[in-house]
Amino acid sequence: MKVDELLQYDREHVWHPYASMTNPLPVYPVKRAEGVYIELEDGRRLIDGMSSWWSVIHGYNHPALNAAVEKQLKEMSHVMFGGLTHAPAVELASRLLSIAPSGLDNVFFSDSGSVAVEVGMKMALQYWYARGREEKRYFVTPRCGYHGDTWNAMSVCDPVTGMHSIFRGTLPLHYFVPSPSPSFGKPCGQEDIAAFQECLRNNHTRVAAVILEPIVQGAGGMRFYSAEYLRKVHELCYMYDILLICDEIATGFWRTGKRWACDHAGISPDIMCVGKALTGGYMGFAATLATANVARVISSRSPGVFMHGPTFTGNPLACAVARASLDVLEEYRTVEERVKQIETLLREGLSPTASLGQVADARVLGAIGVVEMKKPVDVAAVQADLVEMGVWARPFGNLIYVMPPYIITPEELHVLTTAITRVILKYE
Ligand code: PMP
Repeated sequence: MKVDELLQYDREHVWHPYASMTNPLPVYPVKRAEGVYIELEDGRRLIDGMSSWWSVIHGYNHPALNAAVEKQLKEMSHVMFGGLTHAPAVELASRLLSIAPSGLDNVFFSDSGSVAVEVGMKMALQYWYARGREEKRYFVTPRCGYHGDTWNAMSVCDPVTGMHSIFRGTLPLHYFVPSPSPSFGKPCGQEDIAAFQECLRNNHTRVAAVILEPIVQGAGGMRFYSAEYLRKVHELCYMYDILLICDEIATGFWRTGKRWACDHAGISPDIMCVGKALTGGYMGFAATLATANVARVISSRSPGVFMHGPTFTGNPLACAVARASLDVLEEYRTVEERVKQIETLLREGLSPTASLGQVADARVLGAIGVVEMKKPVDVAAVQADLVEMGVWARPFGNLIYVMPPYIITPEELHVLTTAITRVILKYE
């Protein structure tokens, strides 16, 4: 297909994420991608500030990840996981559990982050079912959260910015508590956790689990909150006999400066979801990790099995590339310093925007940089300006934000933050 035909067909027939079919925003045709660059069909090369939504941490077309896929492809790209097993899945499980927060001892593989969240929520319900406490079937979750687009995941997304108004009456109802505060780096006083505690005190007999994004609330507002808040949540869950599910789908694999966002608080959840960067962004794949206790209890009451089994669970290609991605992370040896350097440069590059009239806040944590504007951003216009300056970012709502691949150089980061600053100045 010629590029203009392709664009026309795309515009008329292909649904993009959160897009209109009758009045879609422009899309940019990509020819290939290499390292930190996305190359458009017209030859323009863009520095990727998004890691394709948190996933492509090592950059595109990575030799070691390509080699892992090619090698696995020649052996088997897929085989069902019911009644069969294989080295890529078992070795990935072993690698993942060896680096997971302590106590997480069992893993269930699925095909996307949303499904990993569904799996985690089902595990929590089956856990209480097996303990004969079927009344514990509700979830507590902070406002401004985001956990995916499938039904149960949607039900614990922020009720205002999420999709609750459209699907009112059809989503399971859960308990929402105020979004976590204070912000990252600040202490959390008793008054900051009081509403959360009251919710657990009043409802703990009906609550199966708390589900939250540790430290960084992503798509619900790119908010960074106090590690002490998370530590207190963990303590209260223990105190009220409620499971804690941490959704590390966006934050995992060093994005916030630590391997897991949970590490900022030094806590281990009962259930943890990972995805996105798990395969270095090569393909849709995710995992839900659980403690030995959760796994044992679920297995202790008839039907004695965990009731989930997607067709592509344990997909060997995905497992092989995920294993290779973990190897690459290990090989950096200094991944922590690498992310620290990105953090320093993002801070240097973006913090000055905080004093601009249109900017409400500029904040950085790990390899995540956020400029929060006072008003919603004109996505199409800002994106076109950024592309003109050789940069790829996708603002949403009031937010212009980046989370680049870890291989980005200081010079490329400079281009990225300069472009963002210039685009903001243009609209001053
Ligand atoms: N949880 C979080 C924290 C996420 O950021 C996302 C994806 N944006 C998901 C869950 C859902 O993952 P997926 O898009 O792979 O279904």
